Formats: sequence, C-alpha cells, structure tokens
Amino acid sequence: MVKITYEVHQKIGNPSNVHEAIVRDDLVHTTGYGIFATPFDLNENDKINVAIKWINLDSKWKTISSHGAKSNINLNITAPELLHAIYVAGRIRVYNVGTDSQPILLSLYGHFDIEDKRIASDLREIINSQRAFFNDFDFPYYAISLIEGDDPRSMGGTRLSDSFTAFLPRGMHKNDYYILFAHEHLHNWIGGKIRKDKDEELHYWWSEGFTDFYSRLIALRSRGIDRKAFIDEMNQFLRAYYLSPVNQEPNLRIKKDFWNDYDIEKLPYYRGLVFALYLNNLIQKEKPDISLDVIMHDLFKVAKQQQFSSSLFKDIVHKYVKNGIENEMVNFIDKGKIISLEGINLPIEKVSMGRYYLGFNRDNLIKDKSIQEVDVKSNAYKAGLRDGQKVTGRDCPKGKGDPKQIITIETTAGTFKFKPEHYSKIEIYQLRTDLLGQEEKEFSKFFGIK
Ligand SMILES: [Zn+2]
Repeated sequence: MVKITYEVHQKIGNPSNVHEAIVRDDLVHTTGYGIFATPFDLNENDKINVAIKWINLDSKWKTISSHGAKSNINLNITAPELLHAIYVAGRIRVYNVGTDSQPILLSLYGHFDIEDKRIASDLREIINSQRAFFNDFDFPYYAISLIEGDDPRSMGGTRLSDSFTAFLPRGMHKNDYYILFAHEHLHNWIGGKIRKDKDEELHYWWSEGFTDFYSRLIALRSRGIDRKAFIDEMNQFLRAYYLSPVNQEPNLRIKKDFWNDYDIEKLPYYRGLVFALYLNNLIQKEKPDISLDVIMHDLFKVAKQQQFSSSLFKDIVHKYVKNGIENEMVNFIDKGKIISLEGINLPIEKVSMGRYYLGFNRDNLIKDKSIQEVDVKSNAYKAGLRDGQKVTGRDCPKGKGDPKQIITIETTAGTFKFKPEHYSKIEIYQLRTDLLGQEEKEFSKFFGIK
C-alpha cells in the first residue's frame, strides 16, 4: 500500500477560472482534475473506491459536489467520474431548484447583477425546457456552481458529469446570463449524452454551433428570451459569420488552429449555427411539418450505441432529405464554402456592412493604453482619435468582433465614440426585426413556435 500526502495551491493572483483549483479564505472550488492524483496505469473503466471528507470546516461553510451535497463522500467510481466533477466548500449559498426526488443543487458564491431568486428560476426553466426538448428526464441528481469572476471582461464555464460550473463577471446583461447557462446545460446532450468521437475539433460546427443554435431556440420557445432578443442573437451570428475574415477556411484549419487563433476559434460556432438555419430550411422544404428537431432527437435516440460522427449525421438527415446532404457537408463544412441563405423561408434582408475594424493598433491600446497607427479612412479617425493620445477608459459593449455597436474611448484629449466598422462593405443577410403579419407566420413556422 502506498500513501501519498500533498498540498494543493492555486495559481498566483486571485484566479476565478473554474477549470482550475481556487483556494481562498472562504472558498475551495475545484474540478477533480485540479485536486486529485490518480495512478497513471488506471484504465478508463476501472472502478476505484473513493472516500472524500471535508474536515474542520467553519460552521458557516457548506459543501456541494457533482456527487451530492454531503461533506463525506464514499463512492465506487471510475477515474473520469472522479476527475470530471466539481468539488466546492465555502461560504456558498445553496438552493434546490429541482424536486426532492430529483434534486438540482445550485451553489452561488460572490455577487451577481441579478438576484439569486432570478438565477434559480432561470435555471429551473432552462433545465426543464431542455429536458422536455429531448424528452429525457433521466437525471437523478444535478449540481450547478456559479462564482463571481475577477475580470469584468471575461466569463466562462464548463460542463462536467451531472453538473456544470461557470464564473460570471459583474455587469452582464440578463440575456447573456440566460444564454450562457442554456449553452452549458445543453452540452449535457450535445457532446455529453450524444458523445463526440475523437476528432473533436472537426465536429465543433455541430457540438458548438448547434449548441449555440438550440440553446437560443429552446429559450425562444419557452419564452426565456423574447423574439427581439432572439433575432438580435441570430443577427449577431449572421454578421459574425458573413464578415469573418476566415469564413472560407476549411474544417481542417479549425483542427489545426482552434487554440491559437481567435477568429478560427469562433468560426465553428458561427458556421455551425448558419448551417443549422440552412438545414432546417432544407428539411422543411421537403417536409413542411417537421424541422431540424427530428435530427437532434434521432441523434439522441441512437446515442447509447453510436457516438456522433459526420457520417452518422449524414445518414440521419438522409432519412428526411431525399438527396441527402453529402454535397453540403463537403462544400460548407469540409471545404469552407460560404453558406448561402438565398431563398430561405424566413423574413431576411440584405444589408451592406463592413467587418469589425478598430482602425488603430489594438496591442498598443491594451498594453500601453495609447492610440497608435490610426487609419485615416477609419471611423475611429473620423471620430477624432489620433496617434499618441493616452487612453484613460474604454468600453466595447459587445466585445471584440461585432461591428454593430458603439465603442467609447476616453482619452486625456477627450471622449470619442465610433462604430468599429470597416469602410469596405459587403452585402450580408440579416433577419428582419419588425415582422408584419405574414412574416410573423413565416418566422413562427420556421422556428417551431406555437
Ligand atoms: Zn460550448
């Protein structure tokens, strides 16, 4: 028998990235990966006996984990089940947003812009509507841990077994909360119960793009977000896709550069969502009474036997589309040809727009807080920004990438506001926002709104 004792320290600073171990005076928050050492020769399916005890806890501390709320945990589980889980102890607020027989424990730490009660009710609605979508209520237990982030510009989350965790900054819009939760929770099925195979990056168009599509669509149907917010979201994706500088890169490029190029990292989310719109239209053209939903349901039905692959996806779609989608998959996904929405059964319009363009050097802005290399043709220049100005504050409400917003730059020479849009413009599709009678029907039919 070998006995190992070790200490766990967090990274320097005061990190709030939930993927790693966080150790504070009033909180211990970590995934299994951040805290447990396992023998390297353990096989994925080998069961191990695990006893986890939280000892000498302050009386005001509570505990929660992917395995329950008890502070003593005894389990016979596999290493992935131990590691792919969240463990929390500290001054947390714990709520049950499920039922007594099927608890969904919500743990909150820190401050958020919306009340605990609202977070709890949003989560309850997301969980119920998504379980209803897949007609899957097989969740004996579920845990969610949310903590306040340390950087107002960053948020993120991760799905774990029977649980998810996220860190949230202050100043988030109500819909952004909702959509972040909905996205993470939908991964219980997309990429979770409907497993991904080993070529993960090559399937991001589906696992991330379709997750982005359905997290918003299910929210629209359950009225978690309203129609205006939904259309705004779709239009953000359409802008992002059609104006992306890398939107014609092949799928293999995503595998190669996902982790080291921001534009490439975002591409499968955009491409996948637009492909979902395209496919929904294709299916409804042949079979007006069904939608892309049937593909999702069929994928889930076979998920226990088969993990996701593009050939499985093609086979399932072929059941509903006479000629199949071999060509679409090769062109739009593999080769990266632009997906055209011409003739789609949705109220769309063409809008002339330029890609996101700051008009001066971004590195200087972030590192030296100074304006450099202003392009005289840019909106930034027109607004009055000039080389050498010292920056005292900035606000980019929709973040890097969306030209349809107003950026504010405060400098010692004054405050400047401008639209970060490139002067060279192209025509792109946008959903119409003010829908008239017939358009409203078209919209509801397309998205399956009752
Ligand atoms: Zn995701």
